[in-house]
Amino acid sequence: MIALGIEGTAWSLSVGVVDEKDVIVLESDPYVPESGGIHPREAAQHHSERMGPLLKRVFLKLGERGIEPEDIDVVAFSQGPGMGPCLRVVATAARVLALKLKKPLVGVNHCLAHVEVGRWKCGVKNPVTLYVSGGNSQVIARRGRRYRVFGETLDIGVGNAIDKLARHMGLKHPGGPRIERLAREGKRYYELPYVVKGMDFSFSGLVTAAKKLYDSGVRKEDVAFSFQETAFAMLTEVTERALAYLGLDEVLIAGGVGANARLREMLSIMCEDRGAKFHAPPRELMGDNGAMIAYTGLLMYRHGIGTTLEESFVRPDFRIEEVEVVWD
Ligand code: AMP
Ligand code: MG
Repeated sequence: MIALGIEGTAWSLSVGVVDEKDVIVLESDPYVPESGGIHPREAAQHHSERMGPLLKRVFLKLGERGIEPEDIDVVAFSQGPGMGPCLRVVATAARVLALKLKKPLVGVNHCLAHVEVGRWKCGVKNPVTLYVSGGNSQVIARRGRRYRVFGETLDIGVGNAIDKLARHMGLKHPGGPRIERLAREGKRYYELPYVVKGMDFSFSGLVTAAKKLYDSGVRKEDVAFSFQETAFAMLTEVTERALAYLGLDEVLIAGGVGANARLREMLSIMCEDRGAKFHAPPRELMGDNGAMIAYTGLLMYRHGIGTTLEESFVRPDFRIEEVEVVWD
């Protein structure tokens, strides 16, 4: 069985094609803001201009592998959560494609897709997932037929927090890799607000304090280092607590911030201390990508789940808990 999946909840416009075993084609055309952060309408404009050429490229690559458009069994799309204008472009493209190919449509929860692609590619059964991206930061684990969010950000996602700090320090978007590079040269740790409330965390006070630190003349490298140490320790603490409460022994990282080597190191050390195992999917499947949508769509379709045209409206606030999980 073959699924095509379209992702485009924010900056990443990406189309993936998968079968049960592997990713067959993954092509992306990301939106990169000229200045500042992601502007929803500009991103949507980008997606609608590039969708056609991107799909063409995907079908060309499929053709090279001897796969025809008719061979696709199901068309999946990220239905939410995400930016409304972007989601509408994706949903429209998916509807047109499904109608044209006369194939069923499946609307996929974006957060669920991050978890499922990680389970698939890392061979993990029941992990605590730390999902850290631009817009989202959540600690997720499955309980019966639902995924539950055990802890999450009370304000902005950690990736967004990093990007805001980076912008303030005159760095280009996305700030994540640039902050990481600077942090490696950090020598001195400055204390910053460490905010964990119960199982939740918050980053906006941390960003404000880090910006002030930079404005006071502290070296960029030390600001980046202090920020990362504080933010990632918060995330690691909550992930560890979820492991302990739930009695689980596997951690999966998901989302673009998962590319950060220091965050991975902290999580690995924590896991080692507890006798747990740390898993990270390959880079290209960790940030927002079409293959995770295709794979999750395939999984859902194989379990009898589909989305009618009437049900295919966008869901900007779609929560992972809303999905009934009928597969193993
Ligand atoms: P996503 O929304 O999952 O695609 O992730 C995008 C976010 O990941 C952006 O906020 C990036 O700044 C962030 N990011 C990417 N690479 C890194 C990195 N190496 N360290 C920290 N954050 C990163
Ligand atoms: Mg994401």
